[in-house]
Amino acid sequence: MSGTYIGRFAPSPTGPLHAGSLVAAVASFLDARAVGGRWLVRMEDLDRPRCEPGAAATILRQLEAYGLHWDGAVLHQSQRDDAYAAALDELKALGAVYPCACSRSQLAQALRNHEGEIIYPGTCRAGLPSGAAARAWRVRSPDVSTHFCDRIQGELQQNLAHEVGDFIVRRADGLFAYQLAVVVDDAFQGITHVVRGADLLWNTPRQIYLQRLLGLPLPAYAHVPLVTNAAGQKLSKQTLAPALPASGRGAMLAQALAALGHPPPVELEGAEPAELLAWASEHWRIENVPTRPAVANPAQAPDNLPDP
Ligand code: GLU
Repeated sequence: MSGTYIGRFAPSPTGPLHAGSLVAAVASFLDARAVGGRWLVRMEDLDRPRCEPGAAATILRQLEAYGLHWDGAVLHQSQRDDAYAAALDELKALGAVYPCACSRSQLAQALRNHEGEIIYPGTCRAGLPSGAAARAWRVRSPDVSTHFCDRIQGELQQNLAHEVGDFIVRRADGLFAYQLAVVVDDAFQGITHVVRGADLLWNTPRQIYLQRLLGLPLPAYAHVPLVTNAAGQKLSKQTLAPALPASGRGAMLAQALAALGHPPPVELEGAEPAELLAWASEHWRIENVPTRPAVANPAQAPDNLPDP
């Protein structure tokens, strides 16, 4: 497969990498390297207000320190507005999007899906209410089942109209939405395989729909289990996940490999990242990655954790 595989890690620079983001980085790295593929890094600094100054540089330093060396130049979404605007124009020309005047408070009572997202009730679908100004742009979601087969999670299907509703591609603050940017960039970078955290599994049908509308190639998808803390919460900035430590990197990496169903052999105890990654690229089998989350640091008692 060498030469045909292009994978990527696409962190949002909202803070440094933690044990959870390390698992996603390692999985996408190994899946690419195991077949001699390329592995790219894309900085998803699209949501400027959520980005933390200095976090992008910290993330790149952390990747280097953990032996996760990428190919080529890092792509920054903050430099890609022209490409996203062109894609939005294409969607407008297709009649696939419409302007929406609804504010967050107007939608507060709308139904929510099991992910807690508002299912847009279609208020502006047939046209803006008179006197209302356009705030965002939404894609008309089709009332059909979108199927895909995830390489780890198996067969999945979602009816976009019922389970998500018409979704935003350009936000009221003028920023392009993640769903649009991710498909434009995956196509631009020639990504053949997306390996990322399972929190994005539910977003995949939206991305597949946009790829179809825009005539973009569909990458293969694999969603790795999320790492949760002892309280069962996804590790994230919100749940105050600590940044990856500068020392003890081998042990952290071994823990990430174990969470991915690839615990290193005892002979590699105390090994450096480079050695662990070399072993793991040789032994990587995506079918050994569990579908269920792993618990990070189970010794940490729930009492010691911050309130959700
Ligand atoms: N930027 C997203 C995150 O950090 C990942 C997006 C993706 O991999 O498609 O969670």
